[in-house]
Amino acid sequence: MTAQILDGNRIAKSLRADIRQELQQWQADGHRLPGLAVILVGNDPASEIYVKGKRRDCDEVGFHSIVQHLSANVTQSDLEARIAALNADDSIDGILVQTPLPDHIDEDRIIDCIDPNKDIDGFHAYNIGLLALRRPALRSCTPKGVMLLLEHIGCEFKGMDAAIIGASNHVGRPMGLELLLAGCTVTTAHKFTRDIAAKVKLADIVVSAVGKPNLVPPEWIKPGAIVIDVGITRGDNNKLHGDVQFDAVKDIASWITPVPGGVGPMTRIALLQNTLQAARSHQGRLKL
Ligand code: NAD
Repeated sequence: MTAQILDGNRIAKSLRADIRQELQQWQADGHRLPGLAVILVGNDPASEIYVKGKRRDCDEVGFHSIVQHLSANVTQSDLEARIAALNADDSIDGILVQTPLPDHIDEDRIIDCIDPNKDIDGFHAYNIGLLALRRPALRSCTPKGVMLLLEHIGCEFKGMDAAIIGASNHVGRPMGLELLLAGCTVTTAHKFTRDIAAKVKLADIVVSAVGKPNLVPPEWIKPGAIVIDVGITRGDNNKLHGDVQFDAVKDIASWITPVPGGVGPMTRIALLQNTLQAARSHQGRLKL
């Protein structure tokens, strides 16, 4: 078997066109453009690239975006005050704090400060809680992007066995909640899991979100499984590597994502969708 490729770039392009069309109607109905604020702390080169990409996406669909680029020495209280000001700013519908943050900043407390209705990354405890309770509101972008890829395949996921490798707050855990909501039976593996191979081998859907190149060999994959590679590791010459041994696994899986060009563009499209969703509810509330 040779797997079909889940081309995130192509799927994201078509979803971006949908957003542009929705936006036209939104403006025709008299609303202002959705407004996104990004806070970037310090000079991490990868973070700067990600923020540039997010702004480019906003420009392309026609959202208003601002970036507050702060020094790496910013204090916890200064950063919290910035977020409070953006929470109160009626021209801003979505707030995103680019991670990682410097070691002296408590990231959990920063996320707690964001108004959950403006939490377009979907990281706030309130939004993760709603997802756990089967009432999703603003959903974490990478797991949401993976669900958009799975929707593209268009098969019935109810009752499928899913294995997630990685259990972080931003990816692995909300990914498990998404797949559970879709009716899958979910196993989440992590660095303490014994015999990962045996667990992954049972899965119809495998999502790897670890950040270790070549972690997932073909021997772990059940023939015909759907394999989604979230991992991104920057190697020599800035080349990007996923977690999955792509060339060998593609001969066993039914569908597979490439790295780059698989999950990455879908994470970005989920962010745009979340920003539009936040704008709809925020601007709706302003009119009350
Ligand atoms: P993280 O470091 O917070 O979490 C990694 C997880 O992997 C942890 O739960 C850990 O227990 C688990 N793990 C570590 N070693 C393991 C092993 N040998 N076997 C099984 N599990 C193991 O990372 P994260 O923020 O969840 O990101 C994971 C990867 O996904 C990274 O490569 C990151 O760059 C990438 N990422 C990609 C996107 C995208 O849009 N494509 C978005 C977010 C993160």
